[in-house]
Amino acid sequence: MPFLQPESSGRPGKAPGSVDYRFARRQLLFRYRAGELSRSDVCDAHSELMRIALHCSQRSTVSCPVCDESTLRVVKFVFGPRLPAGGRVVKTRAELKKLASERANRRCYSVEVCTSCRWNHLLEVSPIS
Ligand SMILES: [Zn+2]
Repeated sequence: MPFLQPESSGRPGKAPGSVDYRFARRQLLFRYRAGELSRSDVCDAHSELMRIALHCSQRSTVSCPVCDESTLRVVKFVFGPRLPAGGRVVKTRAELKKLASERANRRCYSVEVCTSCRWNHLLEVSPIS
């Protein structure tokens, strides 16, 4: 299977320049299930990320891959020019569109979080514009 070249437009259906972290997620979960990593190694969401997940996130339809007790939340942070160093949390699609229209070279980081066991993983980084 050929690998995508860095200058390629990425997988079909994805925005050019997007980076998908699902393979890294699968690898991490494989290592956890094989006993290489403990639950505290993989369920380590910082308290601020937990707070954001509880109050400023979108509900996913996917169950937590670690505890299977709740559905995951997706938190979106936008980083780029004229935004705080820690990024700006985006709750709605309208907010995302507004940030995209204000300035170029901004990127959206999507992180899944389980509010039951503190599992968290970066899903995707994509340009917004
Ligand atoms: Zn969980």
